[in-house]
Amino acid sequence: MLYALAGVDCIDVAADGAVVAAARRGLDDAVWIAGHLSDRKAPRWNNHSLRSHAPWLMVSLNDSEDPHFRKAYFDVGHCPSDCDRPCASICPTAAIQFQAVNCGGVVENLCYGCGRCIAVCPIKTIEARPHLASPTAFPTTQLSQIDAVEIHTQTGHQSQFEQLWRQLQPWMPYLKLVSISCPDHDQVVPYLRDLCTLMAPLGVPLIWQTDGRPMSGDLGKGTTHAAIRLAQKILAAGLPGYVQPAGGTNGYTVSKLTELGLINNSLSASHLSNCQSSELPSSLALRLDPEDLGSIHDRIAGIAYGSYARSQVMPLLDAIDHELQPWLGNASLNQFPNGQWVSPRSQAAAFDAADAPWRRLDESALGQGLALSQGLVNQLKSA
Ligand code: SF4
Ligand code: SF4
Repeated sequence: MLYALAGVDCIDVAADGAVVAAARRGLDDAVWIAGHLSDRKAPRWNNHSLRSHAPWLMVSLNDSEDPHFRKAYFDVGHCPSDCDRPCASICPTAAIQFQAVNCGGVVENLCYGCGRCIAVCPIKTIEARPHLASPTAFPTTQLSQIDAVEIHTQTGHQSQFEQLWRQLQPWMPYLKLVSISCPDHDQVVPYLRDLCTLMAPLGVPLIWQTDGRPMSGDLGKGTTHAAIRLAQKILAAGLPGYVQPAGGTNGYTVSKLTELGLINNSLSASHLSNCQSSELPSSLALRLDPEDLGSIHDRIAGIAYGSYARSQVMPLLDAIDHELQPWLGNASLNQFPNGQWVSPRSQAAAFDAADAPWRRLDESALGQGLALSQGLVNQLKSA
């Protein structure tokens, strides 16, 4: 919700029905809040593009074991009886439930592998187990809720990728974009060329995500270098498609890319979001002059932020949840508060109340979260 309000073009989440449903609710809430922020009291949040359409929702799949795909696991029988259970209180999805003994304490469907429980367990009994996100396990009834897919792969996985690609064919009518995320390897370019052949013909835009140092962007500013080096390598290879650094990207990435002349001002990610899906990819050609088209292959087309973006707003999420609860109830903001029916007139009055968090952005946790998320997104959007 926060990053949608800040103006990102695509949100990438796990290929899990519950996660997709939650992300959709967050995007709906962002659109709703954008409508309420777009008045004289909050002109800086007047996000016109968000009110016309939400960011695309992308789901991630892996063709084999990958550090991005894991679930926490532990045996409750190993827990000391006097443990205060910090694992349960820190879990953002209430996935750790001690009555669920058969699940080893973790309800798998609720765990998205953030790792916070692992870090706080005093006896280090929680482990991360690999998890394969398969298209066949994703509810077909939810395909209409997704816009794009990201496939995590690694050099040498041609046969695993081919198998996953075959499974993905029923998804193709729903997709507006395909993204391939791959770490560096001395044979990565020939491997990605093989993937081009495997995917051809591809009727939607393709993005290569250069996964420099996976899930490390919040560890220090130097983590961005691996992602940028790999982006330069893929750009130099001239593969068909767009290139965006990922894995290690952080608040230092845009300035480094600018210094290297790798930011393409005329083909920012916002260009993609400003096109209706039915216009892509032809509108890309229509809306760029020949010079821009030439520069597609020597500049990056966007940045994928993960750990760093999360770490920016994470400390505020509980406070924002707390602020929004009276308005959210158990539904989205654009539904009736607290699940109760109220007349549209009284609903509007409630949402216009002076104490609503979007009415006091200068002092609310929501306002702080928005400032932080927009601070990151604007680095690229205004570059
Ligand atoms: S990894 Fe994250 S989501 Fe999963 S159980 Fe631990 S804290 Fe909860
Ligand atoms: S923090 Fe560790 S030891 Fe304590 S209850 Fe959780 S898993 Fe068990």
